[in-house]
Amino acid sequence: MTQTSKSLLRSQAWRIFLLQCGLSVAVVVLALLPVSLLPARSWAVAALLTGSILVLAIALFCASRFMRLLEGANDKIAALTTHDDLTGLPNRNWFFDRLDQEISRAGRYGNRLSLVMVDLDRFKGVNDAFGHPLGDQTLAEVARLLAANIRASDVAARYGGEEFMIILPETCAGQAARAAEKLRMVVEVNDISLEGPEVKVTISCGVADLASVRPGRGTLRDALVAAADRAMHRAKLNGRNQVAVHAVEHERQLTLV
Ligand code: GH3
Ligand code: MG
Ligand code: MG
Repeated sequence: MTQTSKSLLRSQAWRIFLLQCGLSVAVVVLALLPVSLLPARSWAVAALLTGSILVLAIALFCASRFMRLLEGANDKIAALTTHDDLTGLPNRNWFFDRLDQEISRAGRYGNRLSLVMVDLDRFKGVNDAFGHPLGDQTLAEVARLLAANIRASDVAARYGGEEFMIILPETCAGQAARAAEKLRMVVEVNDISLEGPEVKVTISCGVADLASVRPGRGTLRDALVAAADRAMHRAKLNGRNQVAVHAVEHERQLTLV
């Protein structure tokens, strides 16, 4: 929760508290008023009843408003624990949970499953040349391009600083490589010009198919992530701005440029 929403919530709670205190005091004062001060006893009872109903209605209104504010704050907290603030994509923890689910689903039904690791090329240079704020905007824009150019059943997540992961259920390495190549081209041709200078960025992608990895000492998930990571590093070594695919026997590089 941001500092602004925290202080908004606090000031709302404080206002509601003061209002309720004021209204309670008014009711007590009204109740203590000598009946003789009022023209007739029935008028005093009616005034008291109306006052109480009014207080109750205002208290209910305030309480429901406060609950709505709290619910909004809770939703924000929940989103922050699963999503990345900068890009709006699911975060690393969420990605690992989802990958675990997809791996067990693929195992249960005998489906294919692929993972694509995406890393921005020479991104440090972008920050150095244009500054961190524009670097942040660039990351957010690349995330938007990735999310907009995958299938509805695929999942993109922010894995780390300038690294993203894409889970492709029911997809073999060849299909995943084509999907990664499409993303590589989309990022390459889209100059990012949000405010001020135009920023050109490219990505390197590593593709790994679940069928091509062996768990070894770790889990199948670790093996799949490590394979995508190794393939991505091969793409970097081979000149960046390209896609490389992990294979069982060897890491076969795939350059579709
Ligand atoms: P390579 O092609 O080898 O990947 O080069 P690179 O410069 O992208 O890689 P390196 O790992 O040296 O640097 C990653 C850079 O990404 C450095 C870091 O400042 C930047 N970065 C990571 N997270 C963020 C972020 O949230 N915002 C911004 N603006 N920059 C980030
Ligand atoms: Mg990196
Ligand atoms: Mg990088």
